[in-house]
This record gives sequence, structure tokens and C-alpha cells, in this order.
Amino acid sequence: MTKYIFVAGGVMSGVGKGIAASSIGNILQAAGYRVTALKIDPYVNVDAGTMNPTEHGEVFVLDDGTECDQDMGNYERFLNRDFSRINYMTTGSVYLSVIQRERAMGYGGKQVEVVPRIPLEVIDKINLALKKDKADIAVVEIGGTVGEYENILFLEAVRMLKIKNPQDVALVLVSFLPALGAGGDELKTKPTQHAVRSLNAVGLHPDMVLARAAVPLDEKRKAKIEFMCSIPKGYVISAPNVSSVYEVPINFEKDKMSEKLLSRLGLKAKNKDMREWRQMVLASKSAKLPVKIGIVGKYFATGDFVLEDSYISVIEAIKHAAWFNKRKPEIYWLSAESYENNPNSVKELKRYDGIIVPGGFGARGVEGKIKAIEFCRKQKIPYLGLCFGLQLAVIEFARNVCKIRDASSREFNPRTDFPVIDVMPEQKALLSEKKYGGTMRLGSYKCVIKKGTKSYTAYKNTVVSERHRHRYEVNNDFRDELEKNGLIVAGINPERDLVEIIELKNHPFFAASQFHPEFKSRPLRPHPLFREFIKASIKQR
Ligand code: GLN
Repeated sequence: MTKYIFVAGGVMSGVGKGIAASSIGNILQAAGYRVTALKIDPYVNVDAGTMNPTEHGEVFVLDDGTECDQDMGNYERFLNRDFSRINYMTTGSVYLSVIQRERAMGYGGKQVEVVPRIPLEVIDKINLALKKDKADIAVVEIGGTVGEYENILFLEAVRMLKIKNPQDVALVLVSFLPALGAGGDELKTKPTQHAVRSLNAVGLHPDMVLARAAVPLDEKRKAKIEFMCSIPKGYVISAPNVSSVYEVPINFEKDKMSEKLLSRLGLKAKNKDMREWRQMVLASKSAKLPVKIGIVGKYFATGDFVLEDSYISVIEAIKHAAWFNKRKPEIYWLSAESYENNPNSVKELKRYDGIIVPGGFGARGVEGKIKAIEFCRKQKIPYLGLCFGLQLAVIEFARNVCKIRDASSREFNPRTDFPVIDVMPEQKALLSEKKYGGTMRLGSYKCVIKKGTKSYTAYKNTVVSERHRHRYEVNNDFRDELEKNGLIVAGINPERDLVEIIELKNHPFFAASQFHPEFKSRPLRPHPLFREFIKASIKQR
């Protein structure tokens, strides 16, 4: 038995299709089924690694090094599972595999036509994911909105699959309902009716409509959508805004969504176990005392629009750890550049319980971030550095403690005589050949933790595995000097002898990692480093 649930979007994008798909996966898993989840992005980029996160949101990284859409992060958080390359595809990656097969005579001399080859390739990939994850049900999110050119071949894949196995395929349309009227609560159903017609035009009909709106959908309008769009009674589900995305699966179940979807596929719930999830949501709601975390970055000048999507995993990791420690997370975006223009303003960091310098690329804001790190080190403010946040902490330490005044990174100072952060030889070759796509140090690598460190207290383990996405590393030529002056190397990569985690002595909490711990934080399993950082921040308060 294999079943497919496709999630497509209507009216407009950005209304939470990824959260809807993740939540559907969550409730089916709770009903006792093994679920795999796939995301299809309609763009030609082969993966998300070459896209600017301030425009497209965070680049999420899987264990196997796949650089993908942030929705894969939602899937991992909502399903509490690790996914791999096969769970993510783009127009570019699908075409690439068809073209590669054609070049290898894989189509036996036939003319390779867009239809059916591209949709069939999509179906093959979905089946492969089902097999690899030994899953009963695949939840597949189709990016974009129905009615546009871009995702037409993916919808054709749904049509092909559904025409062959009507009883095994369900299509959920996540549609947006604008609110009008004096009270702003009169939901308009007409755009949804048009979205359903767009689906009809490509030979598809939704089995369920998820009505995304600011407010709940009233019975009268539910009935109207059912009648006008030929949706079976009860299969229009109200999906109003909620305060936390983790509430969405619980909300869906108020409408008995898992039962309805399963019955559409000829299945019944095997069990119902949302206890742990409900407890987590309850804990998030009952946390009243705040913990104030400042994130220092380059696009955060006051008044600048902070694209929270570009740091979604960091934000979620903070939330998971705060709730675990029974605190309400308050996140503040602090502009690194303001510390360059007005060095005195770095004192504002005292207002926060803990400071994070997250991942980053390029020179802008670097000196301001280094000033912030110096302040945290001296003023004993809990600090957590994520990737770039480790590299800049090492530079700060080299400059101000080891007195290597010109210490820098080859990334933003290519001619430095003191490259305490340097590019690996194999990375250098890739850069000179302009091979940027999928070539950073990516995905999971082993890290050996030194006993007696804060990292060991956090992990309670000497060998861990964490996800990477960077080109530069701590330069081992400077390691002795750094350690002699008190820098603790708390974690190393055993194969390459690379610095993975640094810490400081005599500080309530100062730790930074070359990897991105945020990618492995889950609501039901907060990341150890975030957990300890938040704990220290609370103590600080
Ligand atoms: N720019 C740095 C590098 O490439 C850090 C990358 C990051 O923070 N993810 O090594």
C-alpha cells in the first residue's frame, strides 16, 4: 500500500502551504502511519544553495548536504525525522536527471518528450522517497500557485498518478481567503472558486480545501465553497492564523482532518498519539517569563525590514530551547553596522540576556559583529556563535587576546598576513573555477567533544554529528597560539583535525560552532547547545 497526498496552493503564495503540508504529515504520523514528505520547487535552480536568503528565505541543509528550501526544515521539525536529497526536487533537478539519462542512452534511442518524461520522472522520485523512507504515505508539497506556468508539469504528474490510482491519491488545495468589510472579517470565497477552476483546467479536482485566512471560516462560507466548488461536505477546513505554527496540527484535528484524509484514501487511524506534541504546545503557551535574545546581523538597521524567513531555523531553535527552559523567547534584531558607525552603542547589548551571531557571508557588518563579540566576551554576556559567529569570535580572540592585531579571514581580507580563518585548498580550486553550486563543506560531519567542556555538559556525549555549510575554517597554523592564550577547542572533526567548537574559560557561556546546530533543533528535541545557551542566559538575567 502506498498513498499520496499532494498539497498545492491557490490564489497566492506565502500563506503557509509548507506548514500545512508539515502539519498534515504530523497528524498522519500521529495516526500511526509512516510518512515521508517531499517538497517540489518550480524554479530552474538545481538546489536552493545559490539563492539569496534575504529574497528566498533560509537555505536549509540536510544530513547528506542537500541545500534546500526552508520548508524541508519544517518537515524535519514537524515530523521529528531526518530527510535526504530524494525528498527535495526542483524543475532544474528533475530536468537535470532526465537530461543526464538521455545523454547516457537511457531512453534507448527514443525521442524524449517533456510530457510524459518530466512528470514520470517526478513520480519516480516520489516513489523512490516512499521506498527509501519505508513510508506508507507521501505528503508532497508543490511550490507556487495553481494557474501559473511554472508548476504545470508537477500538476500533470498528480493527474497521471490520480488517473491510474484514484483511490490512492488525495489533492489538498491550500487557498487564501481575503478578509474585507468594516470589521475586516468578511471572508471572500471568489478567489478560491477561481483557484479550483484553474485546477479543473489541468484535469484535477481538489479532495479538500484548506481555507487560509486571518480569521476562522464561518459555516455559511464553508457551505458556499463546498457547493460552488463541488467539495464533499466537511472537506473545507478552516485554517485561521494562529500564534504558533506548532498549533496548526492540533487545529487541523479539531476539524478531524486526519480522519477525513485517511478515509478519502480508504484508510483508518491506527492510533491517536499527539500527547507529546500537545504538551510542547502547552508549554510554549504557558511560558510567561521572558528570555531576551539579541541576534547581531548585517541587514538589521533600525527600520530595515528583517526577513525573518532567512533565519527561520535559528528562530525556531531559540524557541524550542526557551520553551524547554520554561521561558518565553523574545528575539531582537540588532544591526552590526550601527556598532561600526557608533562604537559606544555596543553597550546596548547589556539589555539582552544572551547574544547570537548567526551564519553569514561577505564583509559587510563584520567589524560591528566583532565589536559585539568582544563586548560579550569582556562583559560576560552569554554568547552563541553559529558558523560565521565562530569565525568572527576566533578573529576577535586572535586580535584582542593573542595580540595578532591584523588577524582576519581570507573571505573578506584575501591578502591578510594573518589568516586565522582560511579557505581549504580544495575549496580554493573550486572558487577559482567558479564552481559555486553545491560545493561548500556541506552536510553532516562527525565532531569529537572534549570532556570537561560546556559542550560536553550540553551533549553528554563525546561523538556527535552536525550539519555544515561553509567554505572557510579555523587555520590550524594559529591553533597553538590561540589555545596557549586560553581559547578552548571543545570540539574537533576527527578526520580532518578541524576546529568544530570553541569556548572560553571564566565566562558564564561563550561557545561557538563551525557547524549550524539550528538545523538539528526540533520542538520535541531542543538542540543541546541552544538549550545550554538559553539556560545560561536565564541565569544571567
Ligand atoms: N562565510 C563563512 C564561510 O563560508 C561562514 C558561512 C556560514 O556562516 N554559513 O565559511
